Amino acid sequence: MFLHRKETIVPVTVGTPDARFGQYLLEQFGGATGELTAALQYWVQAFHVTDASIRDMLQDIAIEEFSHLEMVGKLIVQHTAKLDQTAVYEAPLFQMKGIGPHLVDSHGCAWTATYVQEGGNVVRDLRANISAEAGARQTYEALIKRCEDEGTRKVLVHLLTREITHAQMFMKALDAMGKLDDPMFGTVEPDETVNIVFNLSSGQDFRGPWNDGEMHDGKAFEYVADPEPRGGFPPPPVNTDDEQAKSPLGKPVAEASATRARQKT
Ligand code: MN
Ligand code: MN
Repeated sequence: MFLHRKETIVPVTVGTPDARFGQYLLEQFGGATGELTAALQYWVQAFHVTDASIRDMLQDIAIEEFSHLEMVGKLIVQHTAKLDQTAVYEAPLFQMKGIGPHLVDSHGCAWTATYVQEGGNVVRDLRANISAEAGARQTYEALIKRCEDEGTRKVLVHLLTREITHAQMFMKALDAMGKLDDPMFGTVEPDETVNIVFNLSSGQDFRGPWNDGEMHDGKAFEYVADPEPRGGFPPPPVNTDDEQAKSPLGKPVAEASATRARQKT
């Protein structure tokens, strides 16, 4: 059952409408980091998460995100409904589509389900949610820095605050499973390269806790300063429809001179 109450969680009252800012706000309505993405991500995850308590948390937060979507929508309609017709160039999107909100981001790109991260494993889902909250918080910060209306700013600070709360909830849930700082999850065991770290960008190299010391399971990181390929050459393609030459049309370069050429560069 869904029960909708028309009152908002905090007052949503715009003082001075600004259609261009309304366009910015679309980022949190129909954009990648927006409230629709968060609401649907947690909502859909809740269907296939098996733990009843995690399911309950996801549903609680999903519904709060729908209420955020509504609040962002209420801001957008107030910023665009009283559009100053002398400044139409400032928000061409609303000139074309009418007053907002619309399910597009601040550049007019349509919302897409590819923004939603879900499926397969609850640890993957909760980690994706921490990322989603970080993205939403960052977009709200960008909006707050560009916001000149006090009423709008108050709502945005509340929305930013709630994303911090949600991130903490997802972190606590992962911690309760022992999966907040354990890179391993799922049922397939990793192979023997799990503790190997390759130095693949050479020059100005650094060592830190990410490539020096121990992994979560106590295994020491093995730092490979000069990695070499160990796989050899894979088999060449077979395509009977191709033009067939008996041997390669070009001449192979001898291994020794090829190595010298590499060393020169
Ligand atoms: Mn939200
Ligand atoms: Mn959130």
